[in-house]
Amino acid sequence: MHIRFWGTRGSLAKPGTTTLRYGGNTSCVEVRLNDGTLLVLDCGTGAHGLGQALLAELPLRGHVLISHTHWDHIQGFPFFAPLFIPGNEWDVYAPGGLSGRLEDTLAGQMEYAYFPVTLAELGAEIRYHALSEGSFDIGGARVTARYLNHPAPTLGYRLAAGGTVFVYATDHEPHSRHMDERTHLPMHEEDRRHVEFLSRADLVLHDAQYTMDEYAKKVGWGHTPAERATELAVAAGVKRLALFHHDPLRADDALDEVVAKCREIAVARQSALEVFAAAEGESLQLQETTGQGLRHAPERAAAPVALKPAEATVLIADDEAWAIRVISAALRSDGYRILTADDGEAALEIARAERPTLILSDWEMPRRSGVELCRALRASQDPALRAVPVVLVTAKRLEPADVTTAFEAGVTDYMTKPFTPQNIRSRVQAWLLRTQAGAGPADAPADTDGGSEAGRS
Ligand SMILES: [Zn+2]
Ligand SMILES: [Zn+2]
Repeated sequence: MHIRFWGTRGSLAKPGTTTLRYGGNTSCVEVRLNDGTLLVLDCGTGAHGLGQALLAELPLRGHVLISHTHWDHIQGFPFFAPLFIPGNEWDVYAPGGLSGRLEDTLAGQMEYAYFPVTLAELGAEIRYHALSEGSFDIGGARVTARYLNHPAPTLGYRLAAGGTVFVYATDHEPHSRHMDERTHLPMHEEDRRHVEFLSRADLVLHDAQYTMDEYAKKVGWGHTPAERATELAVAAGVKRLALFHHDPLRADDALDEVVAKCREIAVARQSALEVFAAAEGESLQLQETTGQGLRHAPERAAAPVALKPAEATVLIADDEAWAIRVISAALRSDGYRILTADDGEAALEIARAERPTLILSDWEMPRRSGVELCRALRASQDPALRAVPVVLVTAKRLEPADVTTAFEAGVTDYMTKPFTPQNIRSRVQAWLLRTQAGAGPADAPADTDGGSEAGRS
């Protein structure tokens, strides 16, 4: 497996004297399998250089995997020359959303007011695939897609081919800051699944936009501090970690210091993890072997998105009227049917009568806390209530014991304030799509291969 970084910057292209060594172009990574399969991860401004290089190989057959459609991951799409040339064939994959078809989203940035060529005028044969979580094959690679935690529906991609594993996980924020101090594993179930997603990879390209110090002011923006990315990679037994999605304000020398700090963390944990910062223009070769450990146990296929928002009912339980107002407004824009309750007992009664598709509940409420509400649902005779995803939201400072208690009670997920309406929308959407795909909270994906504020996008 051959990997080349064409764009490593996050949020905004940043050419200039401060980014000469690590590069100024936004996310774009080329992957070539030994069998010749060509994959392109994201189409930030780095896609321009890759497209020019590919012109030497016409005609082309390739696959573009887009993590999400924030600008810095698609801005190079209309400048990716191979898309313009008849005779080329491309499959484009991205997370399916509720707000429209993938091709319409990509066409949006090519509308008359923004760009002189429309999507329909691209000369290559292009097929679009809206993905949810799950696995599928491209050439000799098994691709596993998993939702990341970001203010827009975002997928990470784990590519396994010939016994080698490469994970592309950018635009992701840890679900919580809670770590088990004894095991150094995250406490939040979703963070543990993220570790499984990275597990034993030969190379992980991970969001590392901030430092821990900076992160205090950027909670909810959807990015990982580099120190935490290192801890996750150590916990996952990863061989090499490439820090990625560098902040536009991070000069080369400052990035060297971040790398040094992360290496110290790995050494302190007695891990052999190798840490470096992805640099534009750099190539890596991962040795493909004979394919042992390539495919595993039965997996869920990455099904296309078929969710009709109007058919999803979301119950919001909170004793603060303003919180219900803010959350309802955020979710209503996605077209769900919304129900509300202002205490835990009322929420339980409504849940029994209406069987919502998802429950978003405050942690602490009168007459039954969010955890107690969940316990009652899980003990119900009704299978729909036993399985309904319950996401708790809270401003309270959680102790590790609170987290353990919540997951033991059957809570699916929790979010700590501060968060934005976008955070809530993408989290709810991920759970609804997982539920639709038959992966309720009890059926999380296992290890599947055997083996306009800068900074917010
Ligand atoms: Zn980004
Ligand atoms: Zn983003």
